[in-house]
Amino acid sequence: MKILVTGGAGFIGSNYARTQLSDARGDAVTVLDKLTYCGNRDNLAPVADSPRLTFVEGDICDADLVDELIPGHDAIVHFAAETHVDRSVRTAAGFVRTNVLGTQVLLDAALRHGVGRFVHVSTDEVYGSIEHGTWREEQPLAPRSPYSAAKAGSDLLALAYHATHGLDVVVTRCANNYGPYQFPEKIIPLFTTNLLDGLPVPLYGDGTQVREWLHVDDHCAAVDLVLRRGRPGEVYHVGGTAELTNRELAGRLLAATGRGWDLVRTVADRKGHDRRYALDDTKIRERLGYAPRVDFATGLADTVAWYRDHRAWWEPLKKAAALP
Ligand code: NAD
Repeated sequence: MKILVTGGAGFIGSNYARTQLSDARGDAVTVLDKLTYCGNRDNLAPVADSPRLTFVEGDICDADLVDELIPGHDAIVHFAAETHVDRSVRTAAGFVRTNVLGTQVLLDAALRHGVGRFVHVSTDEVYGSIEHGTWREEQPLAPRSPYSAAKAGSDLLALAYHATHGLDVVVTRCANNYGPYQFPEKIIPLFTTNLLDGLPVPLYGDGTQVREWLHVDDHCAAVDLVLRRGRPGEVYHVGGTAELTNRELAGRLLAATGRGWDLVRTVADRKGHDRRYALDDTKIRERLGYAPRVDFATGLADTVAWYRDHRAWWEPLKKAAALP
């Protein structure tokens, strides 16, 4: 199979590309990535010499480029997006452009060129906040941040191309991911790298917002399972292996880095901060045989060790982005 991976130089997309290229199945991967501030060719360094990898620097909103690129691909796995909620609160335009318009450009080209399968990688955030219990796939979307609203727009657009045109679309909605190569503005790599350097970390509001966490390897395994075995037009949840408040998460990272609470600074809460996300992922487990493999304690310890051992990866990124 020849797979077009959009956003394949980002955190999750590069993990997916690296996994595919080290797999004995022999599938070929084309990465299409604009290399925005969080896209990084170094994320593909371990597979850079693979004859099965083609890297194309470009924008998913560029209809001519996408039209030229897509013929010959059997599937599209669509990760490319603007992803940082805080940035979407400051300015939403790039989120609407890439997440909504870019997805429409890809869907149109997939339709025009008869691409066999389109996997749209979405997020638990499209449902908005849930105080108790878990979301199921058929529940209505009620996003509350510009990021999640733009993701919801693209998610619904992808499903509409299935309903309207019969395009073979499958959608995954996943919990928060953690692991190596995550851009150090997101909570786990930001806290980890600051704490390794003895620098303070910012905790939003009272720190009681709840998130589910999943290792990026498990998310990528789920995406791959859905690519190969998911039913057209269906949505599949991929839940976390741990549910923690941000304060609890901070405590785990302090313990892992040998630091104390004196480095935790309470800062004004994010505007419109969702309290809690939680997914019921029975469907992917029962119908596709998915099960996560990485338990949170081991995954987090390995992740902290990775950032400890890969300063050369994150130090220039933090400096360039002027992150604390
Ligand atoms: P990321 O921000 O690390 O990477 C996004 C990648 O997309 C970058 O390489 C960037 O250069 C590229 N990109 C951005 N705009 C582009 C454009 N216009 N054209 C081409 N490439 C462009 O994001 P991530 O955390 O790896 O997330 C990947 C996908 O998974 C996103 O769709 C996100 O919504 C979804 N998701 C993420 C999480 C999470 O916890 N990180 C959870 C669930 C779903």
